[in-house]
Amino acid sequence: MSLRLDDRVTELPGVGPKLGARLADALGIRTIGDLLHHYPRRHQDAGEVLDLSQVAEDEPATLIGEILDWSTRRTRTRGKGRQLDIAEARVRQASGAIFHATFFNQRWRANQLPPGTVAAFSGTVKRFRSSLQLRSPEVQRLGQVSAGLDAASAAERLRHQRLLAVYPAVDGLPSFKLAELVEAALESLSPLEDWLPASLLDRFDLVDLDTAVRGIHLPPDPVTRDAARHRLVFDELFALQLGLQWRRVRLEADTLGVDNRPVEGGRTDAFLDALPFPPTGAQLRAFEGIGEDLARLRPMHRLLQGDVGSGKTVVAVWTMLNAVDRGRQAALMVPTEVLAEQHHRTLTELLAPLGVNVLDGIRVELLTSSATTAQRRRILGELLSGQVDVVVGTHALLEEGVRFADLGVVVIDEQHRFGVSQRVQLKEKSVADASPAGPGGDGEARATLPDVLVMTATPIPRSLALTLYGDLDVTVLEELPPGREPITTQLITPAEAHRRDALYRFIREEAGQGRGTYVVCPFVEPSDTLPGTSAIEEHQRLAREVFPDLEVELVHGRMPSDAKDAAMGRFRAGEAHVLVATTVIEVGVDMPHATIMVIEDAERFGISQLHQLRGRVGRGGGRSFCVLFAGWNAELGDDAAERLAAVADSTDGFLLAEADLHIRGAGQLFGQKQSGLPDLRIADLLRDLEVVGTTRDLARDVVAADPDLSEHARLRTEVLARYDGGLDAFAALETG
Ligand code: ADP
Ligand code: MG
Repeated sequence: MSLRLDDRVTELPGVGPKLGARLADALGIRTIGDLLHHYPRRHQDAGEVLDLSQVAEDEPATLIGEILDWSTRRTRTRGKGRQLDIAEARVRQASGAIFHATFFNQRWRANQLPPGTVAAFSGTVKRFRSSLQLRSPEVQRLGQVSAGLDAASAAERLRHQRLLAVYPAVDGLPSFKLAELVEAALESLSPLEDWLPASLLDRFDLVDLDTAVRGIHLPPDPVTRDAARHRLVFDELFALQLGLQWRRVRLEADTLGVDNRPVEGGRTDAFLDALPFPPTGAQLRAFEGIGEDLARLRPMHRLLQGDVGSGKTVVAVWTMLNAVDRGRQAALMVPTEVLAEQHHRTLTELLAPLGVNVLDGIRVELLTSSATTAQRRRILGELLSGQVDVVVGTHALLEEGVRFADLGVVVIDEQHRFGVSQRVQLKEKSVADASPAGPGGDGEARATLPDVLVMTATPIPRSLALTLYGDLDVTVLEELPPGREPITTQLITPAEAHRRDALYRFIREEAGQGRGTYVVCPFVEPSDTLPGTSAIEEHQRLAREVFPDLEVELVHGRMPSDAKDAAMGRFRAGEAHVLVATTVIEVGVDMPHATIMVIEDAERFGISQLHQLRGRVGRGGGRSFCVLFAGWNAELGDDAAERLAAVADSTDGFLLAEADLHIRGAGQLFGQKQSGLPDLRIADLLRDLEVVGTTRDLARDVVAADPDLSEHARLRTEVLARYDGGLDAFAALETG
């Protein structure tokens, strides 16, 4: 029999309708190809297979045999009064020799390995009374005698196959069963045709596909296994990057950008000349990269990644001014009202030297959902007529009825809060069209799309950025403005309760010097079900009991926006010394005189959230502090302790993001669904970082030379097959 990848698994001997249904339901395995794509989670080294006659006492060994029976007994450990459950199997090797496998407090082993099971036992051999024993061995089930396996053939097989594949298993489909099926499939599988040309295999030193698939399931040795894995990881990431690049080209084919080439001696230059500080090297490099994008006719899609405080706002303003210099408009979209108001204020200050909202100056407006009907009507009218140059806003910018005369640049801040559909919506709001005879050349009218700069303060590890944003160019602001003092971070648990009072004394001293403190709480209101500090209660407690002599303000997301504004305003002006808040201040809020960040119930926050919150202080050049109270209202779990230790140890956002990735895994970090991160079966974004970069560059080259992959039919087929539903599956890839 000769099997093909798209044959049903039920073609395999011994796979009836019932097993077939179980495979499909539990693991999504329907075809031979699905089965072979169910990669081992790891490989267990079975060690050298020995007969009892060859083993030496106190040496490690792997023994194979059939379980004859189990006996269980209870004993007392010497000295202590604790009871110990002992379960002992008698195991018979092919030679007929018998040994004992002994397990402590693991009665379930008898159910897991009933008589008639053939298994490999790895451990250290001991002599106990007159018999040989393996104590607490590692066990790998190989099959059942009733299914035709005997100890002799199992041992023979393992002599050639020391590495046993361990598969992700489910109830009723244990790893050894899957191994049996895979082996049967590989036995009758016709050699697999490769989808990569031989030239690529050579260039990247890859084994061919057939070798890789066999090598991952039945590796004779670790070297073969590693080469197989490398090839399959390459395939997975290359197909993904090809899909992303392919889609990007297709999107761009239908669109035409505008020329926002920087104007020499224009407002951009005036803006930089008027800045109270020289731009950092990183900011200058960003201007350069963005400037090149702006000059091109294809719309810019660029991600600006910069740790908190790296000065992204200046880059955003510079980018928008290029549109203004070209007589176009620019929009800055941010996720919250607090942030929109702050950005509006910052922009107005930064642009003041150029004249804001004066004759011949730059018209800057703010549009949020708290605008009155009259204000809104006026702003909408002026956006459509082109009178407004720069608008800062929230989701309100996306509403029906918001139209621009000629939108040239869109900047989206804190990108992770916005979904892709919102990005697209804002892009399509310009009423200006490319002229039919424009550089598109084919005489058809196409919508012009603005240049888009997406900014994120979430320091996404490079591997993730390249995967999530494979269709974006990435600029990293890798340098902080000078003069920042490091932020000292301290963790305080209830065991050191006295340090709370010391902190409050310190906050009072700092307040006397005109410095401010944030106190962040996980909840707005007290709750019966979730134990933890609420902002409302904490505000009362601090204002009445702890700091009756200071001004304590409160800000949270459920307050009306004018009350929010007023509270933030008093804190900014130094009239209030302490600002109790929820995570509304997490992103972007910039108050240079704030030097202390206190976070209550810190265990409730994730690494990146804590890092963002901490980034609210240390912005004014003075010494700053972050205090994490943890374990006061809930038990501190291992994961939480690890997270908090990571945050206390480092202020490097990229390092922390990688730590987060290690602790939580990529899927959880962004939420599989939310991120649209494709299901990676074998690649690991951290471990395979290098391959992510290699395959992205390769995919770019391939697609640049052959935009619809018409000369790479096999690559095309493979990409489509992997992402069924075609390229639209990639729509979800731009993260929300
Ligand atoms: P983020 O990247 O977190 O959005 P901001 O744009 O809010 O950072 O900048 C943080 C602070 O650094 C602001 O107070 C800003 O005025 C200041 N800043 C920005 N660029 C520079 C620079 N080149 N030199 C000194 N300070 C700068
Ligand atoms: Mg910012």
